[in-house]
Amino acid sequence: MSNEKIPYKIYLEESEMPKAWYNLRADMKQKPAPLLNPATNKPMTAEELSVVFCDELVKQELDNDTKYFDIPQEILDFYKMYRPSPLVRAYCLEKKLGTPAKIYYKFEGNNTSGSHKLNSAIAQAYYAKNQGLKGVTTETGAGQWGTALSMACAYLGLDCKVYMVKCSYEQKPFRREVMKVYGASVTPSPSTETKVGREILKEHPGTTGSLGCAISEAVEKATETPGYRYVLGSVLNQVMLHQSVIGLESKIALDKYGVKPDIIIGCAGGGSNLGGLIAPFMGEKLRGEADYDIVAVEPASCPSFTRGTYAYDFCDTGMVCPLAKMYTLGSGFIPAANHAGGLRYHGMSPVLSKLYDDGYMRAVSVPQTEVFAAAEQFARVEGILPAPESSHAIKVAIDEALKCKETGEEKTILFGLTGTGYFDMVAYEKFHDGQMSDYIPTDEEIAQNIKKLPKVDE
Ligand SMILES: *Cc1c(COP(=O)(O)O)cnc(C)c1O
Repeated sequence: MSNEKIPYKIYLEESEMPKAWYNLRADMKQKPAPLLNPATNKPMTAEELSVVFCDELVKQELDNDTKYFDIPQEILDFYKMYRPSPLVRAYCLEKKLGTPAKIYYKFEGNNTSGSHKLNSAIAQAYYAKNQGLKGVTTETGAGQWGTALSMACAYLGLDCKVYMVKCSYEQKPFRREVMKVYGASVTPSPSTETKVGREILKEHPGTTGSLGCAISEAVEKATETPGYRYVLGSVLNQVMLHQSVIGLESKIALDKYGVKPDIIIGCAGGGSNLGGLIAPFMGEKLRGEADYDIVAVEPASCPSFTRGTYAYDFCDTGMVCPLAKMYTLGSGFIPAANHAGGLRYHGMSPVLSKLYDDGYMRAVSVPQTEVFAAAEQFARVEGILPAPESSHAIKVAIDEALKCKETGEEKTILFGLTGTGYFDMVAYEKFHDGQMSDYIPTDEEIAQNIKKLPKVDE
């Protein structure tokens, strides 16, 4: 089919929408490593996990074999509010770059939370509600996940308790207040509300917190409050399962027009949007039906894939969570203070870590000033003001398109545009004022935290 027939935005009819999430693990011959109990170093059982997570999500977390999970009707109904998300042909960007490449992006920023995180937030809130729970606890960094979860909880009438990394709580009042609009209670972390929070404060007085520390607090609160469970917005297998809706919609839309991407690009923090976007494509690759060049993009200041170690590590600073085998910079790693681009988690999805280690995908890291420059270039031609996180993918999509310009190759590029950046204007301001630098951790700094990885015999 000729290019002219492909609309600027490809939407799906209601009848074309995915009705089930796709579990990529079912097509992996080499399965990702299981979560381990840090006390025994034995795989976490469903029973142990159910203290922290609700039962249905524990099943999804542990299931490496079921290929499809039906999306419950109530979640399908919620998705209708903001899905399908548009798959956009970036004609204007292509023209501006003068590239023969064809660029598509899947835009997940069309909802109030401003990112893809709502796809999993509604699923996790739904299963908690269905189990008769009273509420959920979680952590949030910049606030996208907390916002998404508070929207989902408000819709279902669940209580939502968010521990927000203290520096974000103080410096980013907008998302904090959006969460409150949706009825969530928001506590700056570390706090004196939890044992682990009090310990961290005693050890590091005046600390402005970290994601790993907020996770520890949220888990403690959930396990010690009857009727509550903990939910997490990234990294876990269940989250990647829910996010497969991004990739499924993309694939259905592209198949409609007979388009097959050559390169698929996504930003990677904990790996959920990338894992979701690539899921059905990676499935084909694993089954030997098609080949794709799959690229994870991470910040040079938090380079889990490109400079991390594939090993069992803690998911949180307080070391209360199970151990996950993943590419990690060590649970004590905190990106430099001037890092403004998000994607600051020390680890990476165990599923993506396994696929990367087995050579099914590659990863690149990019310095933040180049990311913001790409973000502006994109905003000026495509109209959307992208989230800094998403802009990592934009940067590499542009780089790949410019390579095509040199070689004359007409490659098709698909990338995930995970969200909008309206609440990240302080980061953009730093970029404009020339206050943004590209701090890249030294090998010694990285080695320091890797030394503290837990010892696990496999
Ligand atoms: C949270 C977030 C990310 C990174 O999380 P992943 O789990 O790696 O997808 C990327 N983009 C936006 C807009 C986000 O809010």
